[in-house]
Amino acid sequence: MSSLDDFAKTKLAGLEARHLRRELSVTQREDGLWVTRGGKLLLSFSCNDYLGLTHHPKVKAAAIAAVTRHGAGAGASRLVTGNHPLHGELETRLARLKGTEAACIFGSGYLANAGIVPVLVGKDDLVLVDVLSHACIWAGAQLSHARVEMFRHNDMAHLGELLETHRAEHARTLIVTEGVFSMDGDLAPLEELRLLADRHDAWLITDDAHGLGVLNEGRGSGAKVKADIQMGTLSKALGSYGGYVCASQAVIDLIKTRARTLIYSTALPPASIAAAIAALDVIEADPALAARAVLKAQAFTRAVNLPLAQSPIVPIHLGDPVTALDASHRLEDEGFLVIAIRPPTVPDGTARLRLAFTAAHADADIVRLAKIIREKILP
Ligand code: PMP
Repeated sequence: MSSLDDFAKTKLAGLEARHLRRELSVTQREDGLWVTRGGKLLLSFSCNDYLGLTHHPKVKAAAIAAVTRHGAGAGASRLVTGNHPLHGELETRLARLKGTEAACIFGSGYLANAGIVPVLVGKDDLVLVDVLSHACIWAGAQLSHARVEMFRHNDMAHLGELLETHRAEHARTLIVTEGVFSMDGDLAPLEELRLLADRHDAWLITDDAHGLGVLNEGRGSGAKVKADIQMGTLSKALGSYGGYVCASQAVIDLIKTRARTLIYSTALPPASIAAAIAALDVIEADPALAARAVLKAQAFTRAVNLPLAQSPIVPIHLGDPVTALDASHRLEDEGFLVIAIRPPTVPDGTARLRLAFTAAHADADIVRLAKIIREKILP
């Protein structure tokens, strides 16, 4: 057997040769929009801070006050001594916003998805996952030991076929998808998903990481059609950190009793919870705020003749990783931070620029970015 070091070096060299090696760049976020990277000030179109709340004075003040009152860390997992009063307050607020009986906060959105799927299904069961779903949905599905099948992206005919073929062989069936797809920005057909789930006696989970705070007056993608479980994150439009799950009281009680990523992981720091509560206050106090990020994305898609944006996320498909990296570097030369997204985050052959618009982007900057992308990036 080769040494661990040799193994790592060989593996890295292989990834490097395919332009798939990833490196961390120090990025100092100056506010909700501007970042300093490599000594250069850049206007970011790559942060998921859709409402600019990471740097909102009320959100920051709430986090500081929580540190002062409750300390820097939670001290233990929620089932031991980490369940601070702020947890319940945020859960009540999230359940109210999502129109469910109850909610449960997790350490992150990744931990939420990795934790809840194994609570609901096991080895005799079936999980059907949209092929473009986030890595943590796949992680949860794998950890459940259920049979996992993927359906083509937003392809309800394919999902229907899989249900017709396999549903009867399994005790329980779970359909999991994203409300807003993180790398494509399109929306799931929730009404059809709900109908299929009901027709085939299946449960539906939607991941609303990119919908909360920005769609349907901030209530997210599930405002009109209810999934059995709506999960998401506090780390994007809410500008904080942590994950959440909204569902009926009984489902939440079961999750709190059984989800290993909740039971065996330290609770969120009080500052993150307080910041998320303050972010919800800001969103609820300004009814026009939530819609603004999507409107900015739509101004951009109109300017570059792409299909009208449905969310704050706009992909520009470029195909291979080198072209995507090159486009990202060219935009950096023009003063913009637009990250290239490569496999395995996205399927082979679909490397892209992923633009994330925020309520705070100035119209003039969007016009300038669109012009450069039209002239220098688009084929
Ligand atoms: N689901 C989706 C669709 C996401 O995009 C993300 C974050 N990249 C997550 C879940 C994970 O959330 P968190 O960052 O809170 O772990």
